[in-house]
Order: sequence, then C-alpha cells, then structure tokens
Amino acid sequence: MSLADLNARVRHDLATLNIGAFAEPSDGIYDVIIVGGGQSGLGAAFGLLRERVSQVLVLDENPAGYEGPWETYARMVTLRTPKHLTAIDFAMPSLTFRAFWEAQHGSEGWEAIDKIPRGDWMAYLRWYREILNIPLRNDTRVDLVEPADGLYVVRAGTQRFKARKVVLATGIQGGGEWHVPPLIADALPPHLYAHTSQPIDFAALQGKRIAILGGGASAFDNAHHALTEGVAEAHVFVRRNTLPTVNPIRHMEAAGFIARFPALNDADKYAVMSSFFQRNQPPTNDTFARAAAMPGFHLHLGAPWHAVEHTGDGATVTTLQGRHDFDFLIVSTGLITDPALRLELRLVESGIRRWKDVYAAPDDIANDLIDNHPYLSPGFAFTGRTPSDEAKLRGLYAFNYSALISCGLSASALSGLKYALPKLASGIADDLFRDDSAGKLAAYYAYDEPEFTGVAS
Ligand SMILES: Cc1cc2nc3c(=O)[nH]c(=O)nc-3n(C[C@H](O)[C@H](O)[C@H](O)COP(=O)(O)OP(=O)(O)OC[C@H]3O[C@@H](n4cnc5c(N)ncnc54)[C@H](O)[C@@H]3O)c2cc1C
Repeated sequence: MSLADLNARVRHDLATLNIGAFAEPSDGIYDVIIVGGGQSGLGAAFGLLRERVSQVLVLDENPAGYEGPWETYARMVTLRTPKHLTAIDFAMPSLTFRAFWEAQHGSEGWEAIDKIPRGDWMAYLRWYREILNIPLRNDTRVDLVEPADGLYVVRAGTQRFKARKVVLATGIQGGGEWHVPPLIADALPPHLYAHTSQPIDFAALQGKRIAILGGGASAFDNAHHALTEGVAEAHVFVRRNTLPTVNPIRHMEAAGFIARFPALNDADKYAVMSSFFQRNQPPTNDTFARAAAMPGFHLHLGAPWHAVEHTGDGATVTTLQGRHDFDFLIVSTGLITDPALRLELRLVESGIRRWKDVYAAPDDIANDLIDNHPYLSPGFAFTGRTPSDEAKLRGLYAFNYSALISCGLSASALSGLKYALPKLASGIADDLFRDDSAGKLAAYYAYDEPEFTGVAS
C-alpha cells in the first residue's frame, strides 16, 4: 500500500458514499465560512460537505501548511493523546491517521510507534486538506464578523466575504487569549519573556539560564526543547507542592463523558468543569521523563512567583525559596476565555449570553473563568442576552475551546472531535434548511414531476 493507493481508496470511498465536491456560490454568498484551518476547521468543512452543504470557505491567518500549533509553537516530540484516537475521519477508515501512517510505514510501522510524532500529525492534516480538496484561503486574518441583514460580512483586512453562517474554529485561544500574568508583563520588556504560544529564538538562548512558569505539559515540553536546543539550565516553577498525577480526561474518555457531556444539566456541567479546572492535567510520563533526564533541568515545586524584576539584561524571580536570576522567562500559564477579548466579535460580544447570565454557581465551586464562557446551544451556536442579540448571533458558532463548559471537551481536543463535529455539521445544516424552509416547503408542495409512466392496458 502506498499513499497513492490510499488516495485512490479515499476517492473511491467518497464516490461510494455519494459525497460530492465543494462549490463556489454563484451569488457570492457562502453557506458557511469557517474561520480557522486547523483540525477543527478542516473537519468542520468535511462534516458540512457530508451534510450536502458544499458552499463552504475556510480562512486561516497562517501560511499554507502551518495552521494551528503543530509546526509553529508546539514543542512536544509527540502528541499527548493515545495514537488510536480517531478525530476528523467521520468513521471513514481510509481517512484516519492510522491509514495515512500505514500507507507510508506499513502495519508494522504502526505497531512500532507509541504516540503520533508531532510533525506527522501536521503532515496528516496537510494530506487531509489536499485529498478532500478543502477550500482553504491562507494568510487571511479575520478581524471582524459583522451581522448584516440576516447574513454575516466577514472582514479580513481589505477583503470582505459574505456568508449565511460563520464557524469560529479558531483554536484553544480562539475564545479569548493566551495569558501572561501582569506580574511579568508589567515588570519586564517584551524581549525578556515569551508565552509558550509565541515564537522563541532558542539559538539566542544557547548557554543561558531560563525559567519556565507553569506545571502543565507545555512547561515540560518547552524545558526539554530548550535544553535540546542548547540552553544551559531550564528551571520549571510550579505553584503546587506536588504535580498532579491523575488526568481527568482519561476517565472522561473511558466513562463516556466526552460523548455524553452535553446531556448533563447546567448544574452538573458547571460542577464537572469547575472540578476539571481544579484538578488540572499532569504532563505525560514521557514528556516529563524526557525533560527530567536532561542535564540542566531543574524542578521547583511549591514555588509560586511573588515578584519579577528587570535586573541588568535579565530578570530576577522571587519565590518563598529566595531570589533567582535568569536570562529569559517562558510563561506557560495557559489562557483566559471571554468573548470580550476577541477582536472579531467586538460588534456582538456584549450581547453574547455567558454562563454567569444563566447559572449562579454555589460559592464553593464558583469560578470567574467559567462564568465568562459563552452559553452555547447544543449545536455550538452563540445565544443572545436579548431577542435582538439572539437574532444577530444565531448564525455564529463557537467551535473552539470556549465551547468547553456548554459542550464539554469537543473542539480543540482530539478526543472530542469525533462526537462534536457531526453535531456541529448537522446543526448548521438544520439551521440552513430552517432558514430556507419557506422556499423548501413551497417547492415541496408544488412538486408534481411524474415518475410513474406505466400505462394500464
Ligand atoms: C502545544 C499544544 C499541544 C497540544 N497537544 C495536544 C495533543 O497532544 N492531543 C490533543 O488532543 N490535543 C492537543 N492540543 C489541543 C488541541 O488539539 C490543539 O489546540 C489543536 O490545535 C486544536 O485544533 P483547532 O483546529 O481547534 O485549533 P488550531 O489548530 O489552533 O487551529 C485554529 C487556526 O485558526 C487560526 N485563527 C485563529 N484566529 C484567526 C482569525 N481571526 N483569522 C484567521 N485565522 C485564525 C489559527 O491561527 C489556527 O491556525 C494541544 C494544544 C497545544 C497548544
């Protein structure tokens, strides 16, 4: 089996399943514009095509082949998730990562790998886009989504696109922004620190001492990567006295939480996610072991940063354990989710219903971060605070990490995509059909094309 054979198999499967091709709208109005050409955006496009919604366009700010974090700011050696997880194949075996890998490395090659190498995951996404002919325009940063007479005008610089529906498949940070604590941002010039989501010039850090703030997988991935790139010392600082050992996602995967989370009532959804935020996720064993095995690796537990000072051409960090001097800081403190932080939503965000508008959590689990999440429909649509807000928002879908509280681990995590993508696609197809129901119904009632031509003798 070769990749050419696999491509032929995919094309045959598509024909066998009567899945057609994407199309350009004759009136210049797309059925759906998807902002974001990562795995979620690509999967959403194919999901819509399977629902016979073909006038779709995907827009992404990155150059072709560099959508998402995989070959930009992700610095892990392999994906963290188990290799057998399927995500964007819609149960078509020929479209799975395994089929893509086996076409190149054989079934023994599949048996031989533990986890999916990061670069190969990106290669798979490039192949997926190509074999499905997904209409993706790169180097196109959307800066405004404007409701206009029942449609949306999607603005990207001087470009304007019109669509009936808009999906924001804008990634983990797509519902808010990556977060650098003011403790650091207010104390240091930008050249002395970077968030893990930013480009970092590791060549310029060779032989240097760096500090990394955070205890999640990205902190250890960055420590390992930095030391591999020649940094002399990488000190990881973690607030907790011990690293979490339990990964709640593993239980969620096994216990059906990922597929069935939307079935929970609001109180349970809130409580589960409040616990999820509390518990956090440990680094994977291989990521931690790789970093900890590196000479120059240092782990500081129970060491939150109390102060950061700009000293000479470096930074001094103060913890309970004392003062530490570094040449550069890497910030691995995750993100904040709130539609108010999204430029493209500035015309509509004040009308977006948040969880705090719908559910008053008990004090012991109340969490501001959760309260600011949008309160989405089961189909990932924003909901409005007022009827006029609702009218502006009902064609706008948040298929990114901000869907976490309303829809569970769905977008922005491999384990949730296979459940979430079909819901998104069929929900949008239903909405488009409903929007045009008057026309559809009229055509149905008027339909009188004879089929039976038999003549009784
Ligand atoms: C470092 C890292 C490692 C991860 N590892 C794993 C893992 O091992 N397993 C797992 O299941 N999950 C993992 N995740 C979580 C998740 O799977 C990834 O975040 C994944 O990239 C999400 O896919 P996505 O398509 O939703 O978003 P992305 O892949 O981020 O794609 C979104 C795209 O939208 C673009 N975009 C955003 N805003 C705009 C705009 N306004 N205009 C135009 N384009 C825009 C972005 O630049 C990006 O290209 C990881 C996340 C990170 C950050």
